[in-house]
Amino acid sequence: MTTSPYASDALPGGTVDAVVIGGGAAGLNGALMLARSRRSVVVIDSGTPRNAPAGAMHGFLVLDGMPPAEILGRGREQVRQYGGRVVHGEVASAEPAAPAAEGDPRFTVALADGRSVTARRVLVATGLRDVLPEVPGLARHWGHGVVHCPYCHGWEVRDEPIGILATGPASVHHALLFRQLTEDLTYFTHGTHLEKDIRARFAARGIRVVDTPVRDVLDNEDGSLAGVRLADGRVVSRRVLAVATRLEVRSEGLDGLKLPVEDLPDGMGRRFVSGTAGSTEVPGVWVAGNATDPMAQVGASAAAGALAGAHINALLAAADTEAALAAGGTSAR
Ligand SMILES: Cc1cc2nc3c(=O)[nH]c(=O)nc-3n(C[C@H](O)[C@H](O)[C@H](O)COP(=O)(O)OP(=O)(O)OC[C@H]3O[C@@H](n4cnc5c(N)ncnc54)[C@H](O)[C@@H]3O)c2cc1C
Repeated sequence: MTTSPYASDALPGGTVDAVVIGGGAAGLNGALMLARSRRSVVVIDSGTPRNAPAGAMHGFLVLDGMPPAEILGRGREQVRQYGGRVVHGEVASAEPAAPAAEGDPRFTVALADGRSVTARRVLVATGLRDVLPEVPGLARHWGHGVVHCPYCHGWEVRDEPIGILATGPASVHHALLFRQLTEDLTYFTHGTHLEKDIRARFAARGIRVVDTPVRDVLDNEDGSLAGVRLADGRVVSRRVLAVATRLEVRSEGLDGLKLPVEDLPDGMGRRFVSGTAGSTEVPGVWVAGNATDPMAQVGASAAAGALAGAHINALLAAADTEAALAAGGTSAR
């Protein structure tokens, strides 16, 4: 799905130094490093960043409290300021093309609308998709009354009645973090197993446990979250529900790159595997941000993108040097 359109640059012809797939914090910061290194770079972005439902971004120095759309809007302008391009569109396929030389690969990246571009290197920064448990009424509160991250939204709901809708072991960790923010915390096991010793720890911290499954989520008249209705009909009022979502790497359209994917522990989702500075087993392809590091917040994602961009530039510089040597020529730049 392509939403939140913004002014799009033209897709360049010929071969660019790098295509960045995904224009969130990771992709834009990678592109910024490349553009400032005088690399031709194009970001292709479908415009659906993970934190789009949130009104403000928190926990990142200086930018704390700024709306996510404003951060990305400014980021796009900064990339453009150095000659980088940002194209609004969805990548439908990406695959290796014939290399220019040994160790200097090429890739063809095609958009859903049929346009395509050739790149020397690819940075994948497509982020992840949060998958909520299937509870009627839950999804419509995502990013507002239903949250996943104490560092992103916790302060804003301090001292409120909060519920943990358990999805697995990660929810126990969640409960202890949200207990730091409120004394009124209820843990809905919702069919998950809770060990006796964890129950004892919860009791010691005053965390109530409800084992009756949640049937649905209830709304106030103004549309905000009112609480949950249990399978036995009882209603438990809550202002906020915290849910540890399943974290699924956004890999649509990228199969042709053959990037290795691995499962996260406890069925928590899947991520692209990466190594030093976001490099992957696939020569010429890097990954940064939530696509490979599901726990990374905006700051960490941006930092990973920057590091990958710098690493790509370094390897391009080495490839340029090899090519110059092979050609036996000299260059003014
Ligand atoms: C509700 C919510 C609130 C959050 N609040 C905070 C907060 O307050 N502070 C904080 O630090 N973190 C917060 N986060 C986490 C934050 O969203 C992530 O850390 C951050 O978005 C990761 O950046 P990214 O660049 O890796 O991915 P994203 O920001 O998700 O960007 C990925 C981009 O890739 C694009 N894309 C994906 N597939 C394709 C494709 N095939 N073709 C083209 N484009 C594609 C998407 O459209 C998207 O624009 C929040 C998360 C959620 C869910």
